[in-house]
Amino acid sequence: MSARTLNGNAIRDQIYAELAGEIAALAAAGIRPGLAAVRVGDDPASKLYVTSKIAACEKLGLASFHVTPPATISTDELLALVGELNARDDVDGILVQMPLPRHIDSKRILDAVSPEKDVDGFHPVNVGHLVAGRPTLVACTPAGVMEILRRSGIATEGANAVVIGRSDIVGKPMALLLLHANATVTICHSKSRDLPGIARRADILVAAIGRAAMVTPDFVKPGAAVIDVGQIVVRDSGEAERIFAKFPAKLESLRAKGSVLVGDVHPEVAEVAGALTPVPGGVGPLTIAMLMSNTVRAARVRRGVELVGVVGRA
Ligand code: NAD
Repeated sequence: MSARTLNGNAIRDQIYAELAGEIAALAAAGIRPGLAAVRVGDDPASKLYVTSKIAACEKLGLASFHVTPPATISTDELLALVGELNARDDVDGILVQMPLPRHIDSKRILDAVSPEKDVDGFHPVNVGHLVAGRPTLVACTPAGVMEILRRSGIATEGANAVVIGRSDIVGKPMALLLLHANATVTICHSKSRDLPGIARRADILVAAIGRAAMVTPDFVKPGAAVIDVGQIVVRDSGEAERIFAKFPAKLESLRAKGSVLVGDVHPEVAEVAGALTPVPGGVGPLTIAMLMSNTVRAARVRRGVELVGVVGRA
């Protein structure tokens, strides 16, 4: 048996096509949603993430503002910068790319983003709304996972869902979204006992751990839908050879590029699962798509424009 591949790129394209209609409707009302991306310092991974977010804005015709203060900026200076973006009328969404340099108080910075412009869904006000089941800006990665499930016809109502990982940006909001979608949700973490046993009860298993290929076939009930959020860059050829022993194309790519992107889910899970998101090309594309969706939504809500003719978004 081989699992159905849940193609995140195709789902992203569907969402972009829907957003294009919404963006055109806003343009007709003289509104161009704008996203400000704040990237502090020169971290190469952050540069790559922010560049892809800006590229997505350009593809969709959203305005984008790339703000790049030096790594030496102080917490107070960064707070002032966020305050300026909060006040700007052409900025509908603000994201502060994490991680910030260690001398900066990240929590104070994230809390300073106006909740109505908090397109990452990290502000405690938006988290509170999510807990209460009210419409709000929701963290992009778990929101993207819900789109994958919904658009792939994977029923959540009454399903046993197991989320491995309890981070504020993925695991916790993921569990809440599944709960609101009427799944019976179990959250596991690094101190959980008998992880494979709990995971094997899942009809929907979400892995958001950050440990390459940790979820092996013995974690998976035959036929389960498995969502792999993990994105780990593996450079060690021995580790890659252990994971991809049966996947020569991946090892070829490691030799060519010097690294390979690995999820939390072992590739052999495809032999047991009913459906599986690939890495890359599964959850990753949805994270940026939901950031775009949140930016358009923030523009619409802040400017009091009703949503017309778009199905499935509220
Ligand atoms: P995190 O480190 O904040 O949280 C990891 C969670 O996994 C923790 O709650 C921890 O309790 C749990 N965990 C760690 N080791 C465990 C173990 N041995 N057994 C059980 N649970 C364990 O990470 P995060 O920010 O939630 O990200 C998780 C992964 O998802 C990372 O690989 C990250 O790169 C990836 N990620 C991908 C996207 C995307 O767009 N695809 C977005 C965000 C995060």
